[in-house]
Amino acid sequence: MAAERIDGKAFAEKLRARVGEAAARFEQAAGRKAGLAVVLVGEDPASDVYVRAKGKATHAAGMNGFEHRLPADVSQDELLALVDRLNADGAVDGILVQLPLPGHLDDQAVIAAIDPDKDVDGFHVTNAGRLAVGQGGFVPCTPLGCMMLLTDRLGDLSGLEAVVIGRSNIVGKPMAQLLLDANATVTIAHSRTKDLAGVVRRADIVVAAVGRAEMVKADWLKPGATVIDVGINRLPPAEGEAKGRLVGDVDYGPASGVASAITPVPGGVGPMTIAVLLRNTLVAAHRNAGLAPPEGL
Ligand code: NAD
Repeated sequence: MAAERIDGKAFAEKLRARVGEAAARFEQAAGRKAGLAVVLVGEDPASDVYVRAKGKATHAAGMNGFEHRLPADVSQDELLALVDRLNADGAVDGILVQLPLPGHLDDQAVIAAIDPDKDVDGFHVTNAGRLAVGQGGFVPCTPLGCMMLLTDRLGDLSGLEAVVIGRSNIVGKPMAQLLLDANATVTIAHSRTKDLAGVVRRADIVVAAVGRAEMVKADWLKPGATVIDVGINRLPPAEGEAKGRLVGDVDYGPASGVASAITPVPGGVGPMTIAVLLRNTLVAAHRNAGLAPPEGL
């Protein structure tokens, strides 16, 4: 039987609608809108698309979006000065610096300059530490979105075997931490893992966050596994195509013959990321305004 297709797009739309309703209640209670500042340095076309999409979604949810575009040759000091101004600005609840930054800028130093309580991307070491010790800071949007899809489908994850493929600070590590907090038995696999197929075959839950097109094959999966595919990879264009197809890290068609549920690419994890960013911004706004956290998000 074919696996259930986990519809991240539909889940994300519902989450955005709930955030929108909660944002309207926040505005009434706080006397101002929640606000997200997005900083884009340079003119990378992919980053430009993400920043526009984030701005549009922020406004659609009834929050203020403040876009700051800086030239590609901006100095580290100028960028840090902007982050300082945003940290001090009471209308700004969340700050997101779009990565990657041009090579002359130090990503880590810029992230470290963001007030951890406005770090809605969850990339600051303080928030990574809070996640590691269970102190409830901001969690990176993509893994938190994956977790929402998993718990929506599986409920209690206690005792399930989870394998996360990939150990980046943005996806793999926080994903593993979230699964551990949910009492799964977690393995993190990576580029040096031996017998990756054998490791993945143990898993009730597979999260693939590698960035290699269709790497995870159907015969790597335990029958009935739940598969979350974070990868976004563009194949070379086939004859007659202007652009190649987007695919994930999992060989979707054959894998859906073995898994019990699987996220498609596109339309799975991707749409969750912005929805969770809006959710994190609204949570930040409540904290900054001294209000109780919004319910049901
Ligand atoms: P990354 O390059 O920082 O990390 C990739 C990880 O994969 C590394 O930890 C590496 O050890 C591991 N890896 C590489 N080759 C491997 C192999 N052959 N076998 C096993 N592990 C291997 O990437 P990232 O930022 O974590 O992103 C991973 C993927 O997720 C990318 O395709 C990216 O585009 C996508 N992504 C999607 C979203 C979204 O919104 N859906 C968000 C972030 C990242």
